[in-house]
This record gives sequence, structure tokens and C-alpha cells, in this order.
Amino acid sequence: MTAGPVRAEAGHGAWEGVEVLRYKAEGTAPFKDITRQVLFRDPTLACELRYFEVGADGYSTLERHEHTHAVMILHGRGRVLVRDRVHAVRAHDLVHIPPRTWHQFRAEGGAPLGFLCMVNAERDRPELPTAEDLAALRRDPEVASFIRA
Ligand code: MN
Repeated sequence: MTAGPVRAEAGHGAWEGVEVLRYKAEGTAPFKDITRQVLFRDPTLACELRYFEVGADGYSTLERHEHTHAVMILHGRGRVLVRDRVHAVRAHDLVHIPPRTWHQFRAEGGAPLGFLCMVNAERDRPELPTAEDLAALRRDPEVASFIRA
């Protein structure tokens, strides 16, 4: 990680000199059209700052884990499931994902959704919902129509 600024490219969606990574290995979990860039990593802070971009039609994995997320929406709009509620999000909203809380992001409005996500450097593996978890989540009709698994 270099010292000093990491410059955003013109428009949005990428930082100069920062590799654009796959969100996760294909086939390990359900997701669609999402990329990842690690913008900041420093062992003395024990956290990482990543940028995710969800394509216009895309969504992140429905998952939960012990580690927390602080998510800052940078551009676009969409909706996010946090625990058992679906919330609309837009630029500059801050979303707190507490420990062991189901979460999933989706872009909406025909444009990509870009957000920063601060996370512990050392973290547990995300857990995917079981059939029982999905049935419980789907008891709420709004959640049922929102989630992709
Ligand atoms: Mn997560």
C-alpha cells in the first residue's frame, strides 16, 4: 500500500493504480455483477477500506458473520436488507451492519451502486442462509421479494 493519496479516476467507480478484483470466487456464494477494490489496508489500524461496485442489475451475497461493516454509499441508489428490514439507500448514507446480522445490497434505478465498506482486517468467514433461515426471512413479503439467494 503506497503512502499518500489514491486518486479516483474521472467519474466514479475506480481508483487509479488499484487492482479491480472479483467480489468473491465464482461459485462460492450467490452474487451478481459486483467488483471490489482494496483502497486501504494497514496492520496498525486493523481494518480495511474497500470499494464495491454493484452493477445496475447486481446484488451482493446474502450473508452474516461476526465482523461488522460500516458502509458509506458513494453513488447510485439501491436497497439493503439489514437483519429483517429492507431500507432504501442513496449517496452519503451510512449503513451499519452489526455482528451476525443478515445483509444484502442491490443496485436500483438502472445505474451502478458504489460504496465504501470498512471492515476488520482479521475476520470470520461469511455464513450463508440455510433453507430454514431463508424461510424465516421470507415470512416478511417485502424481504421475500427483495432477497436473492
Ligand atoms: Mn458482509
